[in-house]
Amino acid sequence: MKTDFERTGPMNEVSSYPQWAQDIIAECEPARRRVRDHVMWDMMIEGRIDRTTMRNFMVGTWSLIERFPSFMALNLLKTQYGRSRGDDMARRWLVRNIRVEQNHAEYWLDWADGAGVPRVEVLKGRAPSGTQTATEWCHEVSGRDSLAAGMLATNYAIEGVTGEWAQKVYDSVAYADSLPLAGRKPTLRWLQLHAAYDDTHPWEALEIACTLMGNQPAPEDVEHLRECIERSYLSLHYGLERCLVQQPMEEVEEQAA
Ligand code: FE
Repeated sequence: MKTDFERTGPMNEVSSYPQWAQDIIAECEPARRRVRDHVMWDMMIEGRIDRTTMRNFMVGTWSLIERFPSFMALNLLKTQYGRSRGDDMARRWLVRNIRVEQNHAEYWLDWADGAGVPRVEVLKGRAPSGTQTATEWCHEVSGRDSLAAGMLATNYAIEGVTGEWAQKVYDSVAYADSLPLAGRKPTLRWLQLHAAYDDTHPWEALEIACTLMGNQPAPEDVEHLRECIERSYLSLHYGLERCLVQQPMEEVEEQAA
């Protein structure tokens, strides 16, 4: 049996990937769904998100947005040109796509601003406790784990599910209508760019990971990759939950005073 993986089917179909990858995708689906179907998006889509929750979300998610190209750079450090086909694919892809991330932090600040959270608050405000778990996890897995694990946890899992929720919010007329008309386009740019319509990044990351691992990786390696993907979804879910229940520190202090 051929152990090298080379994709022949369509890129954006799970059936084009090795059975082990199809299995872990299916096993991680409940965790992914908890992010995709989170009440945060319903609150935005229905135009009923309160200022505190939006502030917590913008400030709490900022580090993940801001650090994302750095996670990719940490993964790039693991590649070595000419070592394997998977290495070459990863190196080429990461070099090109770090560049694509260039303006995304700025667009996040534009979104925050338009949604009533001043950029200074995003840059300097205190993130609600528990919201930094995804960032810490991405840093750890990209810095210290294998190339396949790092790319699956970040470019496949985080980017993949982000594309799904971004599309839901971007498609919402009620959300767009809840924003001031002036500057609505720049406010929505981050969402527009990350909406999953034809975002191939997560699929490409999956293809690279499968090329690195081959058709028959050891069961313990597969289990480890599954755990890495699941941790990405769980850390995102946990962060979203903390945005709902936490208040900014100043408000907590004001109330206590
Ligand atoms: Fe981005």
